[in-house]
Amino acid sequence: MNKKRWKQAGAAVFMTILLMTGCFLSSSSENRGEEESGETEFFAMNTYLTFQAYGEAGTIENALKEAQERVEELEKKWSVTDPDSEIYKLNHSKERSAVLSNDTAEVIRFALSMAEETGGRLDPTLYPVLRAWGFTTEDNRIPGQEELSELLEKTGYEKISMEGNRLTIPEGMEIDLGAVGKGYAGDEAAEVLKKYGIASALLNLGGNVQAVGSRPDGRDWRLGIRSPFGEGNLGVLEVSDKAVVTSGNYERYFVGEDGRTYGHIMNPDTGCPVDNDLISMTIITDEGKCGDALSTSLFVMGLSEAEKFWRAHQDFEMLAVTETGEIYLTEGIENSFSLETSFQKMKIHVIEES
Ligand code: ADP
Ligand code: MG
Repeated sequence: MNKKRWKQAGAAVFMTILLMTGCFLSSSSENRGEEESGETEFFAMNTYLTFQAYGEAGTIENALKEAQERVEELEKKWSVTDPDSEIYKLNHSKERSAVLSNDTAEVIRFALSMAEETGGRLDPTLYPVLRAWGFTTEDNRIPGQEELSELLEKTGYEKISMEGNRLTIPEGMEIDLGAVGKGYAGDEAAEVLKKYGIASALLNLGGNVQAVGSRPDGRDWRLGIRSPFGEGNLGVLEVSDKAVVTSGNYERYFVGEDGRTYGHIMNPDTGCPVDNDLISMTIITDEGKCGDALSTSLFVMGLSEAEKFWRAHQDFEMLAVTETGEIYLTEGIENSFSLETSFQKMKIHVIEES
């Protein structure tokens, strides 16, 4: 997707949240005299972010400012394109080894542990492959088989080693935190708000939504789950204190000369964009970083493997939309999800524990 389309997508998500929360915005001032709401909107990590917070007048502004600064600080460390970032320097260094800041070391440790846990479906070393497909420049192309095989030699999370905060990567390999950075940053922003005593906030990081607490009136947030088929929402999910993170190849993609659609989430085994029975994978978890890591990796897995993974773990909920237009959701969110009127005909399958 070009930058313009990215912006449109960001704006669409933003609108969704506003529409879903609009109903209580007006009532909050009636219910709680001293509670106020504040909002900050900015561009970082290649997407639009909107943070809304509710709480004591005077506090909100400072809290939101610090939360934004925290995300910007992390972006400066993790950007793959900013020559001053830690990740860029590491990816381009001759030494192939560096002592990282705590933030960067921690997010890489997390990404490596999730790579391990998902059998390598999440792999933070796919940047050379993403570049070959043009996803790093938006100058998209379809690489040949031989080129891909050579590039795959330069990937593989297990080739990276971390000792304390010192990371060492082999020649030609590069780190990319695109699949986990936003979730991790969302957790950090939520922590900042909580530190200020804010108990009710909604953070939208380009489609990763993180709900701090519940709505100011104590009820669940009503989050619109975007339709992977085009404009509008598929349905509404009611949650409190959760991260809701979606991955799919329907937003950032290109159509090749062969007429096929190629998205930005890669199958680490083939070095090709994921092409399976899923259109989107939404994960509902306590922590944004887990949601982000799992939405990407379970999207790579496809439905049946994702189901198995959920049964083995069960510390998150998932909602998958298949290519045939059906929804599979785990039993824990069966009663919190409802379809929009225009999607009432979609079949919902409930994934049960046993
Ligand atoms: P988004 O960033 O659109 O919210 P994701 O969280 O799913 O979506 O992350 C996708 C990004 O992660 C890609 O743009 C790329 O930088 C990187 N990536 C692609 N495939 C993988 C993969 N299998 N494992 C880890 N990172 C990936
Ligand atoms: Mg992700």
